[in-house]
Amino acid sequence: MAPRDQTEQADKAARGRLAPSPTGPLHLGNAAALLLAWLSLRSSGGTLVYRTEDLDSGRVVPGMADQQRRELEWLGLDWDEDDTLGGRHGPYLQSLRGQRYEAALRRLDAAGLLFPCALSRRDLAGIASAGSAAGDSAAGDSAAGDSAAGAYPARLRPDHNEPGWLEGILSGEDRDNSVRLCVQNEVMNFDDLVLGPQGDNPALASGDFVLRRRDSLFAYQLAVVVDDIEMGITEVVRGADLLASTAGQLQLWHALSDREPSWAHLPLLLNDAGVKLSKRDGGLELASLREAGVSPERLVGWLAGALGLRPSAEACRPAELLNDFSLRSLVRHNISVSNAAMNELRAVS
Ligand code: GLU
Repeated sequence: MAPRDQTEQADKAARGRLAPSPTGPLHLGNAAALLLAWLSLRSSGGTLVYRTEDLDSGRVVPGMADQQRRELEWLGLDWDEDDTLGGRHGPYLQSLRGQRYEAALRRLDAAGLLFPCALSRRDLAGIASAGSAAGDSAAGDSAAGDSAAGAYPARLRPDHNEPGWLEGILSGEDRDNSVRLCVQNEVMNFDDLVLGPQGDNPALASGDFVLRRRDSLFAYQLAVVVDDIEMGITEVVRGADLLASTAGQLQLWHALSDREPSWAHLPLLLNDAGVKLSKRDGGLELASLREAGVSPERLVGWLAGALGLRPSAEACRPAELLNDFSLRSLVRHNISVSNAAMNELRAVS
């Protein structure tokens, strides 16, 4: 067994994660974010965890988790802990971590931070539009006043919770209620390693968000925070599409942990219509680029050029980008991936 101070030393080292959802093949946008998470962690010499975010069973594609892993290996990425390599913080599949999410809900409930909710999204939208029609938003309820559409305003919380309410939901006896977090009306500040100082009040952005859905699925917001805490993650490097979730996640971190990670929100890759790449943008998946003859070096080089890591798109391996890598030197704007650029990439490979 390692001497105590060595173990503590190891615990203090950086820990990052690659956390794809196996809901479709990885595309160029996923590759950019995962490459940067890899570079960030590998350039500081810590441990990289591979977590399969397969919570949403209805959207998970059978076999996709393995396919994604092979695609990332093809790209030249590696990691240190996952469900086959093992590690101290497993299981590394969210679908196997339900008991941990339940334990976190019980802790949050003991702290008085949860309540049951039978309202659907549509109910909330109806309440919001009825409220604004009645001029309700000017009534000095600041959390509800400027809140985003669909946000759950604190004024709707029940006065008290019935004894045993949470166990009723967790056991499946109560199928009518989701579990929501009492979000504090507070601006959460953090220094983003790419975007600089950020501040956001989740009471306005999301209101009291759902941690366990009525259909019994644990919400992404709960699972990602519980896993990052329990897996000892010290840096969260992910696409800027998740920036809006960070303030709410920080409140969960504060409720469940005495530390918080560093955050880096990365530029997004956009399609010709200016929309974030998704699996609907056919031809930009790693698998189809590979089939079209694009080499991983060509792809990594193209990404490095587009992200501002290198002055040109010269072909390279991920490891060649480690020298002097800094998230601070990334471009701050989103990146358009025109069909023309991709055709060029296919042609020169
Ligand atoms: N599984 C999420 C995704 O594929 C990432 C979640 C996160 O990084 O917080 O977009």
